[in-house]
Amino acid sequence: MRVSDIGEFGLIERLMGSSRKGSGDLVVGPGDDAAVWRAGEELVVATTDTMVDGVHFRGEGANWRDIGWKLLAVNVSDIAAMGGAPESALVTLCLPPETEVAAIDELYEGLNECGHKYGVTVAGGDVVRSPVTVLTAAVLGRGEMRDREPALLLRSGARPGDVVAVTGTLGGSAGGLRRLAAGAASDDPLVRRHIRPLPRIMEGRAGVAVGVRCGIDVSDGLLQDLGHVCEASGVGAIVHADTIPVSGELRVAYPDEALEMACTGGEDYELLLTGQRKRMAGLPVTVIGEIVAGSGLQLIDGEGREIQYERKGWDAFRS
Ligand SMILES: [Mg+2]
Repeated sequence: MRVSDIGEFGLIERLMGSSRKGSGDLVVGPGDDAAVWRAGEELVVATTDTMVDGVHFRGEGANWRDIGWKLLAVNVSDIAAMGGAPESALVTLCLPPETEVAAIDELYEGLNECGHKYGVTVAGGDVVRSPVTVLTAAVLGRGEMRDREPALLLRSGARPGDVVAVTGTLGGSAGGLRRLAAGAASDDPLVRRHIRPLPRIMEGRAGVAVGVRCGIDVSDGLLQDLGHVCEASGVGAIVHADTIPVSGELRVAYPDEALEMACTGGEDYELLLTGQRKRMAGLPVTVIGEIVAGSGLQLIDGEGREIQYERKGWDAFRS
């Protein structure tokens, strides 16, 4: 059996089954956006993400500044998806010896630019020789305790009767990827969405503050990420297609496919939250559906008909 036979999520499930259980300080183990453990009276939130040349970016002719931004931003987004606040990063560079030093200087400029915006300091890391460029960042942050209980956005926190809500607009990153392939410049607004994602730290913390306890960042695609929430929470969901905040630029660029791209395109790095409708009221979110008892996810159009898409989202070993 190969890794591609079971896919990214099958592999994670397998690893979750084999990891040591029962450390008293571990609050959230494998399977959520980030790990969380207690450190005294506080919560540490930690995550890591890797970008590989030829898989997540193309090193040749790349804008290294943008790659640096994204390397940190995707990690910051996973901290946002827990309702945490990021603080420090560890960065590991696996580099072929012929790598231009100027490229790494630029990588760090982009990385530090993102760090400056989100209050993250690079605290250390590692540099190793490698046949292919592999860039890894790990980000550590803090989670909140409220009334002596962890106040986090968990994938397992959805309950029947909750509404489903998202920040910002969706599909822009998928549109940007397509525009890039067609030769668009990096100042194209859709391309910006793809290469310079803006993680929703403030929104995640605001959600926690008003009592929302379920969230995930939209990294794999809206339907797939909501599917992760439904699975972890043991619930189903109904999404009303005509309420999804599809990126305006995307509607203009790809009018016929915009909705599908908003539902299945990944890497928007918006937050998806579920919770009581009254708690969502003060948050900068759009309500797009509701959590129901049972299982499965239904996407419904304005006439109540179900919409089905062949491609649901991203799997690292199957796409
Ligand atoms: Mg995530």
